[in-house]
Amino acid sequence: MKVQIYGAGVAGTFLYFLLKQAGFDVGICERRRSPDCRCAWGITYDEAKALYKEIGVNLDEYVLVRPEYVVINGVAFKNKNVVIFDKKRLLEDLWGRMDLKDAETLSAQQADILVDATGYERALLPKIENDRLYPTMQTVETHDADENIYVYARGATGYAWAFPLGDKRWHVGVGEAEGNFSALLNGLREKYGFEVNDKLSCRCDALIRLLPPSKCRPFIVGKVVGVGESIGCVSGAGEGNAPSLRCAKLLYECLRSGRLEDYERRVLKHFRWIENEHKFVEAVQQGRLWRALPLLPKIVAVESKRAVGHSVADVRALLKLILRG
Ligand SMILES: Cc1cc2nc3c(=O)[nH]c(=O)nc-3n(C[C@H](O)[C@H](O)[C@H](O)COP(=O)(O)OP(=O)(O)OC[C@H]3O[C@@H](n4cnc5c(N)ncnc54)[C@H](O)[C@@H]3O)c2cc1C
Repeated sequence: MKVQIYGAGVAGTFLYFLLKQAGFDVGICERRRSPDCRCAWGITYDEAKALYKEIGVNLDEYVLVRPEYVVINGVAFKNKNVVIFDKKRLLEDLWGRMDLKDAETLSAQQADILVDATGYERALLPKIENDRLYPTMQTVETHDADENIYVYARGATGYAWAFPLGDKRWHVGVGEAEGNFSALLNGLREKYGFEVNDKLSCRCDALIRLLPPSKCRPFIVGKVVGVGESIGCVSGAGEGNAPSLRCAKLLYECLRSGRLEDYERRVLKHFRWIENEHKFVEAVQQGRLWRALPLLPKIVAVESKRAVGHSVADVRALLKLILRG
């Protein structure tokens, strides 16, 4: 079977190596000349470590910082499983081992399967009606602060963050539904003492799809199959790295077993936790707390394993704090 992958982000590169190892005839193309750094670089360690191991990548070689706490609006939670990794270097290394082509030089006609791994662009699959693409902005700055993950939220339409990269370097960023960045960013700077920094070495503006997989269907149209963020594998909090890897693994398994017809069902089943998170966020944004709060036990059960150690009571208290502004 000949598979052409469009997009060499986390999902596309991982899928490429899984398929290659299994003997597929696989090609990959990318429209960039080098990987961009548009991401805060947090990743769920246990899951990503195990998945990357399958293609011979040792995630530990790319871990920059293991933050002790995730601090949200000043409240510190023990970090269970999130590390900051050098995503750009990891992708650069993988790109160096691939025969990466320009999109124009790939022959779509000769492929049996075309994979849309183009992230929020969703360049091959049909556009999604009522898509939810949040604008984001992120800079690399230097600050002398304890290496925790810092988050500041007000209202429920976005948040600002500071992720440590080691050597006093930080990703400082913000995402908000309508692109209203300044209040959140100023709030973060004020709350944690991250002063405006004029020694910026990088600035990225990007979009992130905050829509669960069920609302990104169809995943398969003709011979085009979506993977990763193109089909909504991003949590309600914006975690898309490990979910995109996982989604690529699901696609690989379906291709390998010759059962592509199972793919949609398996993605929806696996990412039920993402569906719950988006339902929660949507209900909070609509001011329907009576609908949001019953979802909390399920969300906390998943997130306290994936990310931070918190309880339902902690999140309820935090929610009050965030919504009070
Ligand atoms: C500011 C920001 C911060 C984030 N921080 C985190 C974080 O800390 N932790 C986390 O887990 N997630 C984070 N995310 C989300 C995460 O980065 C994405 O969900 C994840 O990268 C999606 O992986 P992907 O491979 O599906 O898509 P992408 O990583 O977006 O890769 C898509 C690739 O396709 C290429 N492409 C696009 N169009 C075409 C085309 N027509 N032809 C060929 N190639 C094309 C792009 O250049 C890109 O290389 C963040 C997102 C943003 C925007």
